[in-house]
Amino acid sequence: LDDHVPAPKRTQDRAAEAAAGIRTPSGTPFHNTPDTDPALPANRTWARAILDRVETSDLGRDLVDAHTVRTGEELESVVSGAVAAADGWAALGGAGRAEILERVADELEQRRGELLEVMASEAGKTIDQGDPEVSEAADFARWYAALARELDDVDGAEHVPARLTVVTPPWNFPIAIPTGSTLAALAAGSSVVVKPAPQSARCGSVMVETLWRAGVPKDVLRLAHVDEGDLGRTLIADPRVDRVILTGAYATAELFRSFRQDLPLLAETSGKNAIVVTPSADLDLAAKDVAASAFGHAGQKCSAASLVILVGSVARSRRFRDQLVDAVTSLTVGPPSDPTSQVGPLIEPASGKLLDALTTLAPGESWLVEPQRLDDEGRLWTPGVRTGVRRGSRVHLTEFFGPVLGVMTAETLDEAIDIQNQVDFGLTAGLHSLDSDEIGLWLDRVEAGNLYVNRGITGAIVRRQPFGGWKRSAVGAGTKAGGPDYLIGLGDWRSRPAAA
Ligand code: GLU
Repeated sequence: LDDHVPAPKRTQDRAAEAAAGIRTPSGTPFHNTPDTDPALPANRTWARAILDRVETSDLGRDLVDAHTVRTGEELESVVSGAVAAADGWAALGGAGRAEILERVADELEQRRGELLEVMASEAGKTIDQGDPEVSEAADFARWYAALARELDDVDGAEHVPARLTVVTPPWNFPIAIPTGSTLAALAAGSSVVVKPAPQSARCGSVMVETLWRAGVPKDVLRLAHVDEGDLGRTLIADPRVDRVILTGAYATAELFRSFRQDLPLLAETSGKNAIVVTPSADLDLAAKDVAASAFGHAGQKCSAASLVILVGSVARSRRFRDQLVDAVTSLTVGPPSDPTSQVGPLIEPASGKLLDALTTLAPGESWLVEPQRLDDEGRLWTPGVRTGVRRGSRVHLTEFFGPVLGVMTAETLDEAIDIQNQVDFGLTAGLHSLDSDEIGLWLDRVEAGNLYVNRGITGAIVRRQPFGGWKRSAVGAGTKAGGPDYLIGLGDWRSRPAAA
């Protein structure tokens, strides 16, 4: 792990951020971490060196082995150890914890190369998809550090940290999401047990090790690879657990609740997200944003676009469909070790409802772009676009979590919004329109947590686009990751007499 790739040169416009009023709640300027700029030749050389290692990399394996929990006794020692360490961590106060989180941000940036290596080798992330994850993780560290400082001086109320938070992150953002959830709980003064998703166990381990290196005590932050059977259930159901922060499927949230009915759960769950394109839209931009939102990381994002709804004359003419076909068929599909790959592999061979969506059509549907399987295993697929998707059909309402996009049509913007709102989920939603009345109508009516106008619908940025859903895309939440309120719900509050 010490075999370090030097940090690349990057650019950042701090003056523009300050001018735009990008600040913490108490008014301190806040700077988002810049991504690696691929236009700089030095960065391309740096990226190439990382990619050369991807095929054979097993970074983090030793940590997975060392922190795999096999028995009930081992799990008990992890949980009771974390609980015992909680008071000391809480006693540091928000400001003390913030200092450590700020060091975490620097450490994450310094380990950018290794984090990209582990994401590519284990989770199939191309560099251009993984790089913003590292930036987002560092943003979470600095943002939650700022919020932690502010927890100390809320008028008339005293923050009482939770003792133990369990974090169960997903495999699709295997660095940014575990880092964000873990650091939020730590910033709020709680001990944390992280249980990485098995598919991205090495990523989760390297993440935790990065936090340890930066000074988060090992007894306060515990890494536990626990299988999803009995031991996993024991962990979630443990009455000493004050909070569980889950990012995953809605069904997983229901499963956790079945383990323990009164479980304090903060969950960001599934999505089935659509982008609406009206006749006033910049169609070139819309086609590009739809393709990127649907097929970035092979569509394996809760935030991904899995429907595009064409309104009025956009629906009736061939022009937008032709542009979309061009945008989609020009994407190169391949392993993350190949620098030309834009769409990487699925985390596991396509099966179940995703395989069905990649290989079969319902009545009325036809392929605009038919997906092709490129490998024997069934992990590499060219993107698929189907048209003729009917309201209320399976493709309209079901999340597939893969590289398939459905095209629907509507006579009016109102009808398009009805189609968007008909789904059970409400995570992200997009509109492409250059008409301010249309934009106003859509913003008023559409039911989703993150609304994007004339932009792709993935890639929320800390502080600028706090991330979280409505309806079945959120359970027990109400506050958004990367936003000003996120820490408030992670502890308890008691009233404090006003200072004399
Ligand atoms: N925050 C990510 C984004 O804005 C999505 C996270 C997820 O898929 O759960 O694209």
